[in-house]
Amino acid sequence: MLSEFDLIKQYFQRQQAGRAVLGIGDDCALLAPSPGMQLAISCDMLVEGRHFFAGADARMLGHKSLAVNLSDLAAMGATPRAFTLALSLPSADRSWLEGFSAGLFALADAHQCELVGGDTTKGPLNICITIFGEVAPGRALRRDAAKAGDDIWISGTLGDARLALAGYRGEFALDAGSLAAAAPRMHAPTPRVALGMALSGQGAAHAAIDISDGLVGDLGHILAASQVGATLDADALPAGPVLARQQQDLKRRFCAAGGDDYELCFTAPASRREAVIAAAARAGTPVTRVGAIDAEPGLRLVDASGSTLDLSLAGFDHFSGD
Ligand code: ADP
Ligand code: MG
Repeated sequence: MLSEFDLIKQYFQRQQAGRAVLGIGDDCALLAPSPGMQLAISCDMLVEGRHFFAGADARMLGHKSLAVNLSDLAAMGATPRAFTLALSLPSADRSWLEGFSAGLFALADAHQCELVGGDTTKGPLNICITIFGEVAPGRALRRDAAKAGDDIWISGTLGDARLALAGYRGEFALDAGSLAAAAPRMHAPTPRVALGMALSGQGAAHAAIDISDGLVGDLGHILAASQVGATLDADALPAGPVLARQQQDLKRRFCAAGGDDYELCFTAPASRREAVIAAAARAGTPVTRVGAIDAEPGLRLVDASGSTLDLSLAGFDHFSGD
């Protein structure tokens, strides 16, 4: 039987020296923040049965656990530095630990984000990561910073993660090929770290949020914090390649209120369109302009012809609670 300390040493403590002053092994890790920078800190918990299916692939779970935290740093425009990992495990299953740590470290290394500590306990499968990043003072992409007249932008594409979930749940008949093509969007999201950093670095954007609960709900947080409203063009929303082949009503619904997209929704002054496009090119992340921030409170969804779509009739209320 693997002891707690053997488990940490074997699967989470790495040989090569990191950038941390002191990593895993003492009562605390020690980090030396870059002079003059602010710390951006976020914590996300993934619970079996709530955030992922029982029996989910361990490697993808390792990736996703860190990806959702990196996505929060991306949404602030912060640069990843380090993270801690609190793990509750039903048993010390070697093949699970190998897969989980491989998925976790592949993504951590890609973002030079170092595991510096954590806690390990026996219990129901539960993964909690706290992540630390850095951002220059005044450059964080805060939810309360949207201004009337700003453009609203979305990175990447929306809805394929929700489509995969619908396929697994059997909400409607989704062919096996489509489910297989959409599934990676649900299991292994891509945090838009480079885009967030480029936007904040250039001072190109005002407010940002990462879309975890669906665009309508998450944009709503920006609107509430900034005390503004918005108009979204439902037909401009960039559907994922698999969702794009579905019927229009489903496309609109899963783009607007899907969930688990982990794309960035951000606002930027219309005068900064060139800077936004340059930041997106530098990050290698496509962006689409999907609407505008208004002084009038509330969220309006219109179609390509400018007609207003009824949010509740279109089924958004039903889906937003997922
Ligand atoms: P403490 O007694 O201070 O709680 P622990 O015995 O829980 O310390 O952990 C020993 C060391 O291993 C600490 O440096 C802690 O941060 C680290 N650690 C524990 N669990 C993990 C984990 N899952 N991932 C990374 N580091 C961990
Ligand atoms: Mg401990």
